[in-house]
Amino acid sequence: MPYLIDTHCHINTLTSEEISALITRAKEASVHKMICVGASDGTQSSFDALEVSRRYPEVYCSIGIHPHDADTCEWSDALKNLIIHEKVLAVGETGLDFFKAWSDFEKQKELFRMTIQIAKEFSKPLIIHCRDAFSDCVKILKDENADKVGGVFHCFSGTADEAAQLSEINFLVSYTGTLTFKNAHTVRKEAAKIPLSQIMLETDAPYMAPEPHRGKKSEPAHVSLIAQVLAELHQVSPEYIAEVTTQNAYRLFHGLS
Ligand SMILES: [Zn+2]
Ligand SMILES: [Zn+2]
Repeated sequence: MPYLIDTHCHINTLTSEEISALITRAKEASVHKMICVGASDGTQSSFDALEVSRRYPEVYCSIGIHPHDADTCEWSDALKNLIIHEKVLAVGETGLDFFKAWSDFEKQKELFRMTIQIAKEFSKPLIIHCRDAFSDCVKILKDENADKVGGVFHCFSGTADEAAQLSEINFLVSYTGTLTFKNAHTVRKEAAKIPLSQIMLETDAPYMAPEPHRGKKSEPAHVSLIAQVLAELHQVSPEYIAEVTTQNAYRLFHGLS
């Protein structure tokens, strides 16, 4: 059985015991690697994510500043210097969130542009968080020539047409547990039309728990449930989904071993 990768989770706030247990459960569900995305709550979370990835061979990480924090955080040299570490696979999550709008829109754009430049400087792909801001995100990615490093739009819920626009600028999409929600008709219909070569899987743990865990905390093991639904939508086997999505992750994240 080809293994799965959770390409986006936030497990840096958990205790060592909790992380060890979660990795065991993940492996039982064929999820053998995971990327702990540092940008979740201020800049300390990036330092914590790298620390977790140093302790566990199964865990990799990403360094960044969430658009929610655009008003209060900035790139320090110390934060930037983390990116060269071999366990750091990407820069992010970064992007624009005009839905929750917890930070000033102009500040978000400014931080996003700067983050793209940093990703290019270190030749690492970008993990994008985009809510209610698709055209602005794409415009900035194009302006800043982000196609040189590429990346992924995480927690994707857009259309196949939008995914095609992202493909042109070297970006993949990744699906969370929302794909498994019974009422997510549009997301599922669109996901069925997007080529598998452009899709990765993630949990965004502890958020977005898939059915039948909806409303509870998610964890990397749940990637297998998302794979199952994607397999049904594309009428292929879950093994094939594992093979293709894992290959896609290896293609994007060069530091994965
Ligand atoms: Zn996000
Ligand atoms: Zn996230």
